[in-house]
Amino acid sequence: MFRLFSSGVDDLVLVSSPTNGEITSQIGARFDRELIYTNIGEVLIAVNPYKQLPITGPEFIKMYQNSPGGNEAPPHIFALAERAYRRLVDENESQCVIISGESGAGKTVSAKLILQYVTAVSPNNSYGSSMGGSSQSGGGIPQYDGGSDDPNRGRGMPMMLPRGGLPQRGGGAPRGGGAPPPRGRAGPPPPVPSNRGPPPPVASGGGEGISRPVPPPTRGGARGGPAPRGGRGGGPPPRVAPPPSASSRRGGGTVDVEHIKKVILDSNPLMEAIGNAKTVRNDNSSRFGKYLEIQFDDNNAPVGGVISTFLLEKTRVTFQQKNERNFHVFYQMMAGLDQATKTEWGLTQATDFYYLAQSKCTTVEDVDDASDYRDVVAAMSTVGISSEETTEIFRILAAILHVGNIRFQGEAPAQVVDETPLQWAASLLGCDPQFLGQSLNHRQIQSGSVRHTQYAVPQNPDQSAGLRDALAKTLYERIFDFIVARINNAMQYHGNTKVIGVLDIYGFEIFERNSFEQFCINYVNERLQQIFIDLTVRGEQREYHEEGMKWKDISFFDNKIVVDLIDGNKPPGIMRVLDDVCKTVHAVDSATADIKFMEKLVHAIPNHPHLVGVNNGQFTIKHYAGDVEYSVEEFCFKNNDNLYASIVCCLQSSTFPFIAGLFPENMNDNKQAPTTASYKIRQSANYLVQRLSSCTPHYIRCIKPNDRKQPLNFVSSRVEHQVKYLGLLENIKVKRAGYAYRHLKDVFLGRFGKICEPPARNIQEFVEYVCKTLKDVSAEEFEEGKTKIFVRSPETIFMLEDQLMQ
Ligand code: ATP
Ligand code: MG
Repeated sequence: MFRLFSSGVDDLVLVSSPTNGEITSQIGARFDRELIYTNIGEVLIAVNPYKQLPITGPEFIKMYQNSPGGNEAPPHIFALAERAYRRLVDENESQCVIISGESGAGKTVSAKLILQYVTAVSPNNSYGSSMGGSSQSGGGIPQYDGGSDDPNRGRGMPMMLPRGGLPQRGGGAPRGGGAPPPRGRAGPPPPVPSNRGPPPPVASGGGEGISRPVPPPTRGGARGGPAPRGGRGGGPPPRVAPPPSASSRRGGGTVDVEHIKKVILDSNPLMEAIGNAKTVRNDNSSRFGKYLEIQFDDNNAPVGGVISTFLLEKTRVTFQQKNERNFHVFYQMMAGLDQATKTEWGLTQATDFYYLAQSKCTTVEDVDDASDYRDVVAAMSTVGISSEETTEIFRILAAILHVGNIRFQGEAPAQVVDETPLQWAASLLGCDPQFLGQSLNHRQIQSGSVRHTQYAVPQNPDQSAGLRDALAKTLYERIFDFIVARINNAMQYHGNTKVIGVLDIYGFEIFERNSFEQFCINYVNERLQQIFIDLTVRGEQREYHEEGMKWKDISFFDNKIVVDLIDGNKPPGIMRVLDDVCKTVHAVDSATADIKFMEKLVHAIPNHPHLVGVNNGQFTIKHYAGDVEYSVEEFCFKNNDNLYASIVCCLQSSTFPFIAGLFPENMNDNKQAPTTASYKIRQSANYLVQRLSSCTPHYIRCIKPNDRKQPLNFVSSRVEHQVKYLGLLENIKVKRAGYAYRHLKDVFLGRFGKICEPPARNIQEFVEYVCKTLKDVSAEEFEEGKTKIFVRSPETIFMLEDQLMQ
């Protein structure tokens, strides 16, 4: 009944003559009826409605829970989540959900819905757990009493979804995975401990109006105060040892599953605070890639989780284009921190700080930064970040804002225009202001010929500004990594588990001006597309061959050629050429290095069908999703991703052990090979591919219907473009040319054999009987492989199931 609709089919495999245009209009016809989900076999297409639809409440979870493989209920993200969880339970295998689509298409919302579903339907007690309180509230976790403690839940028929939708429930997609109210300590972090020296004086003007903070007193009094600890050549800085986690969990111990569920869900607003930002495309754009694995025990209860992050866009800390914002956490801090602490840290208002003011946008419609601040502080507490550490984190963020206000002038070594921001930054970082100033207007350069010899090269104002921004970015990145490590510490289960992984990573990017960041993002997307092709198209064809079926391969674009062009070793790919150039250009300026890179590229990769237009500081890659022209400006600089020795030494000298502990490296160790950004990205991509390949994949292809964030507005040309580069047509063609259903022969006979009288003992008997008794079914509908039976059209399966019901 709900298989076919008058407007738009719910599985595009059923479209009679699929083209990109036809797919688009089918999706559009459904979208007009507020049906945002459509299937292609088991791949889910999700179109962003830009409106809360009443389709994700607990009653919908209940509807999909136990639906057979999530297959027969109308297309829905919960159907896909149910299928993944069901396979984890039934087949005891790890699963992953790969979510792709362009910025603003709805990936992060989809990822949260998957988590919402899985945490709701899984048991609340671990195997052998002594906990009995599975019915108690999980502190904001979506809960309902849908029999979730029974891992062997029955498999009743799904309820049908009401077509017109249910009454609005003020719910819809959760914010922060169910948005638990802050509990416990929701207030601001306590002020800095007083033994850190006298606090900086109150901002002039009594903190009212636009006021410029006056400089804090020089640390340790006038010159001759206590020397910064550590210092150059000093002993190794103390590391911040991770505290014993609230529940240090090793395999075999009792696990508080409800707490783990809470950590998994609460980590969302925290990760979004430090990793998301308002962009022109999306008010809550993820500026990092995230792969979250939920770990399950033998009772199929979530007993842990692990987050891996990719490609944090750290340049956003120092630069944002007009109408975009820095990471949310800065504005949350400005709005939520108590006045006394703000005064103590010299925080006046967002518009006084260049890193927040340059884009002329400090607020986001419908976002309450102060209230989000309280949620973030509460989430920090949930993941085991102490109140002292919370203060340290926010103080570093405050320091970053002051760093951004440092200006330079004059000849090399550049002079600071105004000492005030430098003094604030130094005070909040626990560094000597003179030492900090010198770390910014001199750069340490290691002599290539004489080991252990370092030169301090004076920097001009532009170069000093570069070092200043490097300082801000490095600090931010370390805080980001620290928080991710803490979240993992709070939820990772050390033992053998199966997992459901959820990958939310930014999609393919084509901008007017594409730089190194887009190059890296698009590379990762090429790798993901490869897994997609491998598992959906190639995998399907491989199975037909293995089963010895009559089968003519469908032609599809295999993007391996593009992946090799980017990351190949022999012949060298673009990244290899870039790395080679970066090794040799330490002494030259960034622009000269980029020119060298261009020259090498022309020689190393002369005639490649997917690399064109290599000249004038640009090159174009013909990606699977379209042609992208990259500007090579700063490629070498960004690829080198230098950790500047002078900056690290200065931070290692901090009197705050927390800050010194964020920089554990030994800068005097010449043996450490500098790794490039592209090397790290290849490593991350390899890790991701390896993790994903060991799981059964489930795909969500998110589509953005318009560029104005307008509710339920479907712009066909925009959608068709996405349909094309998501490769949906190839996906449908293979599915259509192939078989809608397959299963091991005895499993199939076990289920459907009883339609026959007497029950069929083998496939031939089955096919003969069915073709004789059901007039719409022909023998061509079935094909017997070596181990499996294949059924061509879904209608035949539906018909067989109707027979079973009778
Ligand atoms: P980015 O790559 O920039 O991180 P994204 O694909 O993760 O983008 P989301 O942040 O998930 O995009 O979605 C953007 C916005 O669209 C959301 O903040 C929300 O307002 C709206 N949205 C997305 N999906 C849904 C949905 N299923 N229901 C209602 N609104 C949605
Ligand atoms: Mg996102």
